[in-house]
Amino acid sequence: MQERQYASATERFLKYVSIDTQSDPHSEYYPSTEGQKKLLSLLRDELVEMGVSDVRQDKKYSCVYATIPSNMPEKTVTSIGFIAHTDTSDAISGKNIRARVIENFDGNDIVLNSEKNIVTKMSDFPEMKRLAGKSLIVTDGTTLLGADDKSGVTEIMEMAEYFCMHPEEKHGNICIAFTADEETGRGTDYFDIQGFGAHFAYTVDGDMLGDLAGENFNAADAVVTANGCSVHPGDAYGKMKNASRLLQEFDSLLPEKERPEHTRDREGFYHLCEIKGNVEEAVAEYIIRDHDDGIFEERKKVFMAAADDINKRYGEGTLVVKLEDSYYNMKRRLDPHPEVLDYARKAMEKLGIETVETPIRGGTDGARLSFLGLPCPNLGTGGGNFHGRHEFLCIEEMEQTIDLLKQIVREYAAE
Ligand SMILES: [Zn+2]
Repeated sequence: MQERQYASATERFLKYVSIDTQSDPHSEYYPSTEGQKKLLSLLRDELVEMGVSDVRQDKKYSCVYATIPSNMPEKTVTSIGFIAHTDTSDAISGKNIRARVIENFDGNDIVLNSEKNIVTKMSDFPEMKRLAGKSLIVTDGTTLLGADDKSGVTEIMEMAEYFCMHPEEKHGNICIAFTADEETGRGTDYFDIQGFGAHFAYTVDGDMLGDLAGENFNAADAVVTANGCSVHPGDAYGKMKNASRLLQEFDSLLPEKERPEHTRDREGFYHLCEIKGNVEEAVAEYIIRDHDDGIFEERKKVFMAAADDINKRYGEGTLVVKLEDSYYNMKRRLDPHPEVLDYARKAMEKLGIETVETPIRGGTDGARLSFLGLPCPNLGTGGGNFHGRHEFLCIEEMEQTIDLLKQIVREYAAE
């Protein structure tokens, strides 16, 4: 039996956030930054130290994989995995994080930094009020906290340490993976599913405790290029074709109410992300999103029909559309394996955690993994306000999440 390395999960979390692991979307390397490598190597060493027998670090990509082998030789138990990412968003700095614990949070505005007048206002974040009476870890308002996703990393490590210290507890193979560059969209680019060895897995990368996400958007990205014809405006009569206006016209053909700012819950959208151009040429980038497979296909048709309409009016080739699917709703891959969500629900029920199943309005690493053959819903971590200076982690909810991961392992062992 091993000694515990950290007296508490909080201590462990604070150690991890002291390492700057901001990822860089412009880097060609994986991991994109040295800090991620540093944290990944630390995690590798800690797993070895706590007595996990099978710890591997990818030589090229630095991702860490580990297995706590089954101690139930008499029975075939489903191998389950837990995955978290080590990088933090580049939306705001993650360097020199000055984290602070607020004990017994009173439910009122939190002054993060009196000097700089940075305040987490409950009017902006009303959902935080429910955490009154609990303890929160916050920043000094100049950086993010990194609960996304070092809370998930911490919770998985604590769960692993528990099973190492309690060999008397029966379990199947527990597979663990720590990845890099999730925030740059490349989190699973080099994920070794075969080596990972799990039949099913959970990403521990959501916010609220009790979050259970088995649904995400279907996603397509489109680039629309308008080819105009530039003529001196004084001589343009009957000759000029203004590419920028053609894109405006195209955009006006898309349903006005189906934009991100007018949609929520299960409503999909067309989103104009970027537009630039002049008379001669103009380019617009769109994303198309929908949870429903059928409506998703329909949306792509509406988009293409709008382009056809413009081409009919102004001539073939006026608009050129490059439309590509980028990821799909994992529900398709989870539906054949209802036990993946059921065991999580059961574990939450046993621990008195209220399950909140809201479809994700985005993608997850788990969505991509689900389509690569590893069904993988997402669990909450107890953190919130990710990617910004108001990010926090609720200590009690982190501890309950650790219990939840242990309980999920037990549910599979009892199957
Ligand atoms: Zn995350």
